[in-house]
Amino acid sequence: MPTYEYECQTCGHPFEIRQSMKDPHLTDCPQPGCPGPLKRKIGLGSGLIFKGSGFYITDYRSDSYKAAAKKDATSSSASPPAAPASPPPPSKPAGS
Ligand SMILES: [Zn+2]
Repeated sequence: MPTYEYECQTCGHPFEIRQSMKDPHLTDCPQPGCPGPLKRKIGLGSGLIFKGSGFYITDYRSDSYKAAAKKDATSSSASPPAAPASPPPPSKPAGS
């Protein structure tokens, strides 16, 4: 869920709110008694927020990558390198 940054245009009260993209963005200041309209600072805040969530995603992804690599290494080391697909050695000389 994305975090949106708002700032009240009347009292200047800045705040962030996490809401779904489907939700309509806020228009009223949450400060009691302030009817000020809000300004959404999606452009300014997205960089910082993107960085934060990016770290999480990278972490999560590298972890799963590590697990996959580990699994791969385990399975490849468990199976013997002797492949049955190798061609049979020429044991019988053709001109005997
Ligand atoms: Zn306000």
